[in-house]
Amino acid sequence: MSTDHLHPLSKAIRIRAAKTLQQEHSTPLYLTSSFTFDEAEAMRAAFADETEANIYSRFSNPTVDEFIAKMCALENADAGFATSSGMSAVFSSMFALLQQGDHLICCSSVFGSTFTVVTKYLPKYGITCTLVPANDNAAWEAAVQPNTKMVYLETPTNPQLEILDLEWVGQFCKKHNLIFNVDNCFATPLLQRPTDFGADLVVHSATKWIDGQGRVMGGVIVGREDLIKEIYLFCRNTGPSLSPFNAWVLSKSLETLDVRMQRHCENALQVAEALQSHPQVSWVKYPFLPSHPQYEIAKKQMAAGGGVLCFEIKGGLDAGRKFLDNLEMLSVTANLGDSRSIASHPASTTHSKLTDDQRAAVGITPGLIRISTGLEKVDDIIADISQALEKSAL
Ligand SMILES: *Cc1c(COP(=O)(O)O)cnc(C)c1O
Repeated sequence: MSTDHLHPLSKAIRIRAAKTLQQEHSTPLYLTSSFTFDEAEAMRAAFADETEANIYSRFSNPTVDEFIAKMCALENADAGFATSSGMSAVFSSMFALLQQGDHLICCSSVFGSTFTVVTKYLPKYGITCTLVPANDNAAWEAAVQPNTKMVYLETPTNPQLEILDLEWVGQFCKKHNLIFNVDNCFATPLLQRPTDFGADLVVHSATKWIDGQGRVMGGVIVGREDLIKEIYLFCRNTGPSLSPFNAWVLSKSLETLDVRMQRHCENALQVAEALQSHPQVSWVKYPFLPSHPQYEIAKKQMAAGGGVLCFEIKGGLDAGRKFLDNLEMLSVTANLGDSRSIASHPASTTHSKLTDDQRAAVGITPGLIRISTGLEKVDDIIADISQALEKSAL
């Protein structure tokens, strides 16, 4: 059956690798390193790119292709390549397209390892980067140089949940003829589709909401066909390909992403609303709370607020640590986007090596707590957070 006429949500369920002779209903998992040819001529033609035959799983694999096709449908993109992790997607989307002498504009609030890539590794290869604050339009304009090639951002940002106006950045990139590259990890294509605002590339850590159950690592880059072609050749030769096993898990996960995200977002909004009036909490940040500084932009470009919220616990660093110690149900772990709710305290963990001033510069306050809201009954999530908050005050 052709899936061409289906809605993207149906495509995420019905696109599949071809059925084998076994007539299996769930899709096959092609755990193989390479593919065979009956004739030398067929192999020659495949290597000459005259046919699309599979050659070697570092280049392509039917299970991985199934995952990519579903992601392209959800992100309304022409083509894609799947990678071993979100970071290999981020890295490859930059290194495949930029070269010595090029300049990148990057939002200053990006995922920690992305920050390291653009500030430590890109410069080693003669690619310069200007970091600009999320919503300072004048700073974005001032950052443009004659050699600027690409703009990179994520929205909502991690962990401060700043929202960037994708429509504005899309017009900015068009005006200056820049490649518009968006990390859509926090929103997922179910809540926000950057290609609608002119994004040329969308990258994902599939490890987070796409898997959604904390099982496997993965990443994907989708976007404009000509750019993906360059990225494909870069990855085919450098080797950050996604394992077919992980692709099988992730492809299956896409079948439930829509219903999972609906529940994650409902739960997150309810937790955010409940925490607003908690005496131990100084403020709560969630894109779909009217108190969020970019609430209007979030409403404009997102279908729901996402699964992550953050809040400031009264009592700073000590209270934050006590809060983690007193959680009973929520997990304390370095991941997000799981069916199990997760709490983290950046000041004492991911950002503990920074000075107070450095932390302040990236918006990490001493009592900042990030919650990745899971799929448990929301009353249980709120009850656990509330009791740990109360104990953190003692
Ligand atoms: C986790 C994360 C990444 C990196 O993904 P990995 O799969 O851990 O390599 C990139 N961007 C954002 C926003 C993330 O949360």
